[in-house]
Amino acid sequence: VVRAEMFGQLTGGLEAAWTKLKGEEVLTKENIVEPMRDIRRALLEADVSLPVVRRFVQAVSDQAVGVGLIRGVKPDQQLVKIVHDELVKLMGGEVSELVFSKSAPTVILLAGLQGVGKTTVCAKLANYLKKQGKSCMLIAGDVYRPAAIDQLVILGEQVGVPVYTAGTEVKPSEIAKQGLEEAKKKKMDVVIMDTAGRLQIDKGMMDELKEVKKVLNPTEVLLVVDAMTGQEAAALVTTFNVEIGITGAILTKLDGDSRGGAALSVKEVSGKPIKLVGRGERMEDLEPFYPDRMAGRILGMGDVLSFVEKAQEVMRQEDAEELQKKIMSAKFDFNDFLKQTRAVARMGSMTRVIGMIPGMGKVTPAQVREAEKNLKLMESMIEAMTPEEREKPELLAESPQRRKRIAQDSGKTEQQVSQLVAQLFQMRVRMKNLMGIMEGGSIPTLSN
Ligand code: GDP
Repeated sequence: VVRAEMFGQLTGGLEAAWTKLKGEEVLTKENIVEPMRDIRRALLEADVSLPVVRRFVQAVSDQAVGVGLIRGVKPDQQLVKIVHDELVKLMGGEVSELVFSKSAPTVILLAGLQGVGKTTVCAKLANYLKKQGKSCMLIAGDVYRPAAIDQLVILGEQVGVPVYTAGTEVKPSEIAKQGLEEAKKKKMDVVIMDTAGRLQIDKGMMDELKEVKKVLNPTEVLLVVDAMTGQEAAALVTTFNVEIGITGAILTKLDGDSRGGAALSVKEVSGKPIKLVGRGERMEDLEPFYPDRMAGRILGMGDVLSFVEKAQEVMRQEDAEELQKKIMSAKFDFNDFLKQTRAVARMGSMTRVIGMIPGMGKVTPAQVREAEKNLKLMESMIEAMTPEEREKPELLAESPQRRKRIAQDSGKTEQQVSQLVAQLFQMRVRMKNLMGIMEGGSIPTLSN
């Protein structure tokens, strides 16, 4: 089975909008008409409900026209940013954390239609909480499908979490009561109850859930919904919230969702946040729902946030700011060059992450390995420079004698030294261009 790339279709649809702005100088009322139509179409095709699409498009248009020109930022980039921020807002802004009760155990009640991945989520969630050091117990409450109870027991064993079962003859609310007592006796931190899933919403299901909820008095009541069902998922969250009162949703099968309608609509339609998402069949495939990262993915701009977090482990913030200042004032010198090259070399472990960033997509794992290899070579030459030469690479561009001395002192060829000097100037220009601060720039020809 070929899985659809997450949000692939939506990403492609939105791309049309940016393309139309290529070559424009500013965003105007006129030139955003076409891109806005593309955005509208992309969202509708993503299965976002019409009222939500209308509000979204309006909000983006208002901002796009009112926005001032930012130096170095092109109109299409500016629109991407506005759409990004609106997407984040649409999905609820901040990550919505699970709530834990002050007195143990925290009770989490899971509900959902059949086949959405509810049983799997029970075990995934237990696994997730266990990794945070919390002891968990599962309660098997799907009494209509004996296979569901067996499945939960097997998954529980797999993740190493006890499962409370009472067969299929006992009422779910009674199972809930017994299970909760057991969890208290065992001093569990969290207890998660699985409930029966039906093919569609019916009164029996709702009544049963209400009863179970009354017995458990849960901290979290989470509805598990299938991302592939698009805006239907958002409607379900609304219905369950009205009927039994829920605290949030868990969106499963995001790995197979190329459209994104559910992820985009749930919060806006139901008022309830998506707290967690399932992105695969393995027990590890459950994670918090980060609206900002999700927006980044939808726009096809990679998971920039997690890149930044990881990059910060490599290069401290002040270094980065310092570097930026130097690049802007064209003072990027050999000291920075060394720092930068060392940082890139250390990024070896993050080649996977680098690939996620647009523009950085050009930095291939092979290039990072190359940087690691070159580092030693460069270090020896840079170490042979005087402090003055390191700070003023122009000195080296102008003087073949200096380059010759460095070659001799570091045991490298003059050609290698010249290459290094040329590389520094190329880097200055490239970085400036990358940042969109200056067009062009010049690379000096080394004098002989
Ligand atoms: P339930 O009827 O709601 O309890 O659903 P199950 O937990 O039995 O899951 C139904 C099917 O969906 C199973 O084959 C699961 O492996 C699969 N599934 C559950 N969550 C995910 C997910 O996040 N991604 C993918 N690709 N499959 C999932």
